[in-house]
Amino acid sequence: MLFGCPFGPSDIERDYPPKEMDVVELKLSGFDQLAAYRRNKSLVKDKLKNKKTIVHAPHQFDLTASTPDGRKGTLHLYEQCVDLCSMFDADILVVHPSGWSTEGIEYAGESTREQVLQYAREQIPLLIDYAKSSNVTVALENLPAIPEQEPKCIGYHADEFASLIREFGCRMCFDITHGMHDIDGFLAHKDLFSHMHLNDSHVGRVEHLFLGDGDIDWNKYAPQLLALDLPSIFEFDRDIYSDDDFLRGKEFMLQASQAQRQQ
Ligand SMILES: [Zn+2]
Repeated sequence: MLFGCPFGPSDIERDYPPKEMDVVELKLSGFDQLAAYRRNKSLVKDKLKNKKTIVHAPHQFDLTASTPDGRKGTLHLYEQCVDLCSMFDADILVVHPSGWSTEGIEYAGESTREQVLQYAREQIPLLIDYAKSSNVTVALENLPAIPEQEPKCIGYHADEFASLIREFGCRMCFDITHGMHDIDGFLAHKDLFSHMHLNDSHVGRVEHLFLGDGDIDWNKYAPQLLALDLPSIFEFDRDIYSDDDFLRGKEFMLQASQAQRQQ
């Protein structure tokens, strides 16, 4: 199993990612960050040498935004993220499929859930087509709803999300804490997974904690996740956890796998 860590523009200048990491997911929050990666192309390429690379599109922008300009602008930005994938030999682009109702942010604005679904059906296939011409796979990430409420975002209901992904012909990036309300429901669609985001949290929150520091039953799920043998990105809060903790994550999962073998 390949393990990896996130990488942001602020990592360009420092001694990171750890050499033991097999996968790196480039994070973006906007246009200016695209420029930062482009400007430092050879330096970043050097850091990613011999590592599988994934790009995460900026989730602050929304393909299902309530205004036509918002949707058009996001598609344009995400197409540039596909181009960034080509620049760094990344074969997967992670995309939050729609507005994510959390921390008081409601990207969907006045739209109804039906409108959000309609916009998703209009916009996401356009991005997938663009990505296909560059041999990039779009992986839609499952999303949480906070506080517990009927979310407008798609990516919350496991079966609905999986059937949309089958309709679009793309893949799913499975984030275990985003899917904490129904981990088994999402695992039933593991054939759609491109890779995973691993971290922990307390129920009803998205805290990006180290494995075991939250409410997820890792004794139950670590062996199942390892058996999928998919690239896994640790997403720990980098204000709390150090580079060493990312290596500890790998140990945690490997120990869980050993425990499984001994049973
Ligand atoms: Zn994400």
